[in-house]
Amino acid sequence: MTGNLDLIPVSEWGFFTLPRPMVIAGPCSAESEEQLMETARGLAAFGIHVLRAGIWKPRTHPGGFEGIGAPGLKWLQRAQRELGMKVCTEVAGERHVAECIKYGVDMVWIGARTTANPFLMQEIADALSGSDIPVLVKNPVNPDLDLWIGALERLNRAGVRKLGVIHRGFTTMKNIPYRNEPGWRIAIELRTRFPQLPFFADPSHMGGSRKYLLELSQRAMDLGLEGLMIESHCNPDCALSDAKQQLTPKELEVLLGEQLQVRDADSDARDYRENIDQLRARIDIIDESLLETLKARMSISEKIGQYKKEHNIAILQAGRWDSLLDNILRKGREEHIDERFLRMLFNDIHEESVRLQNEILDGTKE
Ligand code: PEP
Ligand code: MN
Repeated sequence: MTGNLDLIPVSEWGFFTLPRPMVIAGPCSAESEEQLMETARGLAAFGIHVLRAGIWKPRTHPGGFEGIGAPGLKWLQRAQRELGMKVCTEVAGERHVAECIKYGVDMVWIGARTTANPFLMQEIADALSGSDIPVLVKNPVNPDLDLWIGALERLNRAGVRKLGVIHRGFTTMKNIPYRNEPGWRIAIELRTRFPQLPFFADPSHMGGSRKYLLELSQRAMDLGLEGLMIESHCNPDCALSDAKQQLTPKELEVLLGEQLQVRDADSDARDYRENIDQLRARIDIIDESLLETLKARMSISEKIGQYKKEHNIAILQAGRWDSLLDNILRKGREEHIDERFLRMLFNDIHEESVRLQNEILDGTKE
């Protein structure tokens, strides 16, 4: 199902010069006028035209650097004036929106914690109603696609037609190297449902470390996303927030100009290759999740085997398998999946379940 958002194409926003990627860069936080201007100059020097800087910072603990607040908006104006840059910042409520409108901020983004909150999203949508400011919506912290779409719908209903999304990954309890779990599947699902939405990846907040920026940016490009939002600071180690994940403008220039492989869609042959790579990257992700699903299914099957053993019950119950298969085949028909293939697949899965339960019953597996 493709969704119906009423959008103005990103090519008409006057922000980005193609080709891919469209880049938004700048410090996690605006800290001082000097820091912001030095970073902005470094970025403008190699053709970055859209500057990000957090003015109000959502921090986990109180008492840290919670952003410079409204005075920083004047510094953004200076970057607009002196460097001709477009500037953007995060808004998390109507007061922020009002300040951004007052100071002529060119674009705003919604942070992951805010997207997860429909009350705040409605408040922001109402505050933006009637303005022409483009809005980029980060995914919610939890992997809930509907919450993400709901936030987009609220903005769109309020009349925001210059809309885009930023994928920054999800909070997870798993032990992974990244700060947030990429969860690319959800990004792909959103892309499939709203192919016309401009799509940015945020490898900085996804990875949480400079060392992951290239691989995550590359993945985003290979999936065919059109933009990157990357944190850059003139002196990253001294940054007041997110020091570990920021790059100097020079380092960012190398990453974007020399390391990142962006296949250009000029010729038909290349276009073909690019599509194949994107599709393969999607297949890899789906296969990984198929494996996880299979593993989860097998472990439940083992638990059932254990339970049957404790209660002295036989492994096969006539009727259970037939009704399970009927159910699968019925759903398969609705999804237009070939019946012969489904029978084969589920017979194999069933056979493996029975084998595992047999091992448990005869004591070869504990
Ligand atoms: C940010 O972009 O500075 C930020 C706080 O990001 P997120 O909402 O993704 O955590
Ligand atoms: Mn940050």
